[in-house]
Amino acid sequence: MEKLTPPVEKNDYIDVTFEDLTHDGSGVAKVNGFPIFVQNALPGESGQVKVIKVKKGYAFGKLMNHSTVSEARVEPPCPVYKQCGGCQLQHVSYEGQLSFKQKQVQGVMERIGHLPNVPVLPTMGMTDPWRYRNKAQVPVANRDGGLVAGFYQQRSHDIIDMDMCLIQQQENDDVVQVVKSILEKYNVPAYHEQKHKGTIRHIMARYGLTTGEIMVVLVTRTSELPNKKHIIEEIVKAVPNVKSIVQNVNTKRTNVILGDQTNVLWGEEYIYDYIGDVKFAISAKSFYQVNPEQTKVLYDKALEYADLTGEETVIDAYCGIGTISLFLAQKAKKVYGVEIVPEAIEDAKRNAKLNNIDNAEFEVGEAEVVIPNWYKQGIKADVIVVDPPRKGCDEALLKTILKMKPKKVVYVSCGPATLARDLKILEEGGYQTVEVQPVDMFPHTTHVESVSQLILKEDN
Ligand code: SAH
Repeated sequence: MEKLTPPVEKNDYIDVTFEDLTHDGSGVAKVNGFPIFVQNALPGESGQVKVIKVKKGYAFGKLMNHSTVSEARVEPPCPVYKQCGGCQLQHVSYEGQLSFKQKQVQGVMERIGHLPNVPVLPTMGMTDPWRYRNKAQVPVANRDGGLVAGFYQQRSHDIIDMDMCLIQQQENDDVVQVVKSILEKYNVPAYHEQKHKGTIRHIMARYGLTTGEIMVVLVTRTSELPNKKHIIEEIVKAVPNVKSIVQNVNTKRTNVILGDQTNVLWGEEYIYDYIGDVKFAISAKSFYQVNPEQTKVLYDKALEYADLTGEETVIDAYCGIGTISLFLAQKAKKVYGVEIVPEAIEDAKRNAKLNNIDNAEFEVGEAEVVIPNWYKQGIKADVIVVDPPRKGCDEALLKTILKMKPKKVVYVSCGPATLARDLKILEEGGYQTVEVQPVDMFPHTTHVESVSQLILKEDN
């Protein structure tokens, strides 16, 4: 292979114009076709860049000054936006973010899927794209005789104290502040990562958007919690909508937040929330979509694409706690859900009962193993919904879909690149992608979620 000599060297100063944004929100400029990635630069902007690192096929630069500023650029409203790293697009107007996400999907359809003609619709965004997250998980540390609770500074484990997060439900922010001061009052020592000592590791808050119910989770290193009784009393007094206070014990040296053991300290084990008409029970450890308002938008679209009459058999692959399955079960004859995490399937079954849905069946296992087995047993779906993790669908699953030939495939994706790869395989096997609808589930971040409809072509 021909070796390209990078046209830039470390510490060069160059004037560039940015053409694109990467999937993590950096600006991309090209020098003789050689890409340079620069943080805080937007397409259409120009400026001077200092080259800070040169690799074989690309380089990183630092923006020294702007000569042209994009119309999409806004002042990020969060004071700790740069240090936190939880959001990546607050410096882009919301309209600009939605259009970036649409282009991102369009781009991979062309580059990776070689499907330039697939219609990618404008991203469905939120009317108010702030304070949408229903779950906060905030690390705690001791500092200057008190507690700090906030976020890890980027690329480090230093905790920056924070009293609000603009993408968090206000209720969660309030809970974190109140609980922090109660723990401080009772001198509960914070967990010290290096020494593996101390008690409180994380404060977690979950909020049921439609019910207003709140769960407080105290994640501790040890099962004892000093002054437990007083702490509970004070939380109950200070948080009027609290329905559940639980302690999760995580004894391990790990970055994983939750441990194996969960004890209910006060109230219920679950809080509840609705997506549309479907009620969900949420425990401390349950997976549950973090933006339920947009989840409804996404699932309504999935339901529209499934186009059910009540007679269909539907498979929901990668079903999690059965959110999509239960949504579809109301309009289908039978739904089969499959998911690899046993606890999620337990939740799915519990949620089916909670909603008196008796035409949904759930099985634990790998979609690429379980669905071929179902096929062997004679189960044939009219519609298959897939909602895989970022790495996309396993090839064995795609092959089974091509054999089973459901009339429709609805593909919910959180990874545009693997979506494009998988759509290509399904297209080659006889499906046509009708359209791709990006839905903004995570405003101000670079996450791109979408739902696509595929139909089996007539002669297949
Ligand atoms: N459809 C769900 C969750 C989708 S997230 C919802 O809308 O809530 C993707 C899910 O796929 C996760 O729950 C993950 O545990 C599961 N998963 C990952 N690999 C899998 C596999 N090979 N087979 C089945 N499920 C898998």
